[in-house]
Amino acid sequence: MRNAEIARVFSEIGALLEIKGEDRFKVRAYERVAETVANLGQDVSDLREAGELQSIPGVGKSTAAKIEELLDTGKCTHHQELLSQIPPTVFEMLRVPGVGPKTVKVLIDREGIATVEELESAARAGRLRDLPGMGEKTEQEILRGIAHLREYSKRTNLGVAWAAAEGIMGQLRGDAPVDQMEAAGSLRRMKETIGDIDILITSEQPEAVMDRFVGLDLVAEVVARGPTKSSILTDAGVQADLRVVPPESFGAALQYFTGSKQHNVKLRDLAVRSKIKLNEYGVFRVKGGKDVRMGGRVEEEMYAALGLPMMPPELREDQGEIEVAREGRLPDLIELSDIRGDLQMHSNWSDGKDDIEGLARAAKALGYRYIAITDHSPSQTVAGGLVVEQLHRRRKDIAAARKAVPGIAVLDATEVDIKRDGRLDYPDEVLAELDFVVASVHSGWKMEREAMTARIIKAMENPWVDCIGHPTGRLIGQREPYELDMEAVLAAAARLGVAMEINAYPDRLDLKDAHARRAKELGVKLLINTDAHGADQLALMRFGVATARRGWIEAGEVLNTLPLSHLRRRLRRARSQQRRRRKRSTS
Ligand SMILES: [Zn+2]
Repeated sequence: MRNAEIARVFSEIGALLEIKGEDRFKVRAYERVAETVANLGQDVSDLREAGELQSIPGVGKSTAAKIEELLDTGKCTHHQELLSQIPPTVFEMLRVPGVGPKTVKVLIDREGIATVEELESAARAGRLRDLPGMGEKTEQEILRGIAHLREYSKRTNLGVAWAAAEGIMGQLRGDAPVDQMEAAGSLRRMKETIGDIDILITSEQPEAVMDRFVGLDLVAEVVARGPTKSSILTDAGVQADLRVVPPESFGAALQYFTGSKQHNVKLRDLAVRSKIKLNEYGVFRVKGGKDVRMGGRVEEEMYAALGLPMMPPELREDQGEIEVAREGRLPDLIELSDIRGDLQMHSNWSDGKDDIEGLARAAKALGYRYIAITDHSPSQTVAGGLVVEQLHRRRKDIAAARKAVPGIAVLDATEVDIKRDGRLDYPDEVLAELDFVVASVHSGWKMEREAMTARIIKAMENPWVDCIGHPTGRLIGQREPYELDMEAVLAAAARLGVAMEINAYPDRLDLKDAHARRAKELGVKLLINTDAHGADQLALMRFGVATARRGWIEAGEVLNTLPLSHLRRRLRRARSQQRRRRKRSTS
């Protein structure tokens, strides 16, 4: 039994106890163990061998006994007992955004609702609005949450799928006889959520590769095992398929399995008109009733046969890319290596885990020339937001980091909260002292569309605001974006010279691809930032760059591809334009 499964059992015990109305501290204790075990760097079974289970933070005698029982029998009596009292279908209900254990308890006790289907029909029938703590609005939220859950339940967030694919391919590359290997599908197109991971390989010993694949550490279940195709379920809950293809078809298969379906349909239509056949085995000219091979070993040959340039995978969504490619006008998409700095990260002055110097070192190691330390502002009390006096005291740490890590500029910056009325969480004179200001919404999400739009535009009108952070507030698969007139916000950004962020954090990817593309059309400048809360998260930049690529973005449209001096000039110019504008409007 692996850590992830043990963690799941403990988190279920916590939820079941909470539904039963047990003591909050007891519940929290189980949740804590679940979190700790899930993030443990060592295998729990190794710690047990060494007799060190109780060295895990939060694990006492009785928890250690439960872990041992799980390791020995695969089950835990306490967990089983709770499951016999509460139907296990409630876990599905808990996955509905906005439905927590407290709500579930009310639903079971008052209405006998124990499944998502029952919950849905009760909400539709208006039977929830009179329950304690609920109302008509809650019913609507629950219905939206259920729709959301259905949309996402079969998909995995990009970051999770990426890590699983890297794990699989890294191990196969290390010790299996693979020649070529590439992940295809929506993962290669870097979609924000992924269905299955599709890996293609060529090998002279496919049997040996299959053996290694189904025997990998991260395999939770072998779904199918065949000579040229196998499927597994990883411990992160993602399905991964491995296919062996002949070398002469590798490019064709890669093209075919990368998709998207709509992109491929359009390509095949194009092929038919030129009497060409395109499939997962290759590209063929039809001559006298016979197929004559034109290519398929590499992907470029598939496109070249149709007179097209190689198509970046992120563009293959049938959003006009084939038409544009035929005219030779494909965009020159931004690349990770174009990025020269990262302008949103949190140090241990607020809710980050590393100090400023550590962040600077890590960023320098990535080849960056500048970073901005954007700790939270005071109203983010849970995230350790800095009061003005702390913000000032932080300067000596910034100065020390500049000295200790030469060759990278450390900008004195903030992620300032946008209050409900659009005012900011620091006074103007404090913002004016800072090198860089990103303004974000972190609370009061449930506003009407017009009010939220006005709130954000008002923040953008503050002359010291350089950028709007994670502009829609969504958390993929967990929280819907707030209501917002994005068109109006982007138009304001263009008018006021305020940059919009593509937050690279894989749960956010905000702006998303389509919004980024619209921003480009309106002439809005973008920033791609990681929002890292630790030095290790600076590497998340690739997901932001991928989102920008999916939005057809070129390097010239992204401010953090600029050298520092140009970036500073741009920020200064936008700020002084804004100040002039403000003077005009108040005089
Ligand atoms: Zn934020």
